[in-house]
Amino acid sequence: MPGYELKTSEPVMETNIFRVTHDRAEHPSGAVLDRQIVHNRPAAVMLARDTERRVLLIRQYRLPVRKELLELPAGRCDGNETPLETAQRELTEETGYRAVRWTPLTDFYSAPGFSTERMYAFLAEELTPGTASPEPYEIIEQEWLAWDDALKAVREGDIRDAKTIATLLYCEAFGL
Ligand SMILES: [Mg+2]
Repeated sequence: MPGYELKTSEPVMETNIFRVTHDRAEHPSGAVLDRQIVHNRPAAVMLARDTERRVLLIRQYRLPVRKELLELPAGRCDGNETPLETAQRELTEETGYRAVRWTPLTDFYSAPGFSTERMYAFLAEELTPGTASPEPYEIIEQEWLAWDDALKAVREGDIRDAKTIATLLYCEAFGL
């Protein structure tokens, strides 16, 4: 089946985090997609879990949504980092913890309606605490939740961050 064909992609702006293009694609039926698209680097999200199956969450203020959110630690890939390298670096930067055992879970597009961001999820186990080194703009509070309490927080809407919901429920659904 013939699909959409990209006709034009014009640069709109570039920031230190992402760049934006204005893209146009056409379908043989005559349908046209005309969108501004955010091009992000890949990112990693980490479900760090201790031997009692408690989950390490962080609470931080998210400027776009004007509120604090409870989330799994996560971050963007720097330079040529692999997603696993990003996961290992960000877990330590944001929480101080290091993990011995890393299990790739899945990957997903965070917001494919307007963004290219692809996020890689990892399970991080056998944790040892250390000193966090957040960016100066990051004020991060750690919260450990029992596994069932984390699921309850998803169910009751206390966790509203998509990557956190997806990763927690992925582990729950597949018995990880
Ligand atoms: Mg982060």
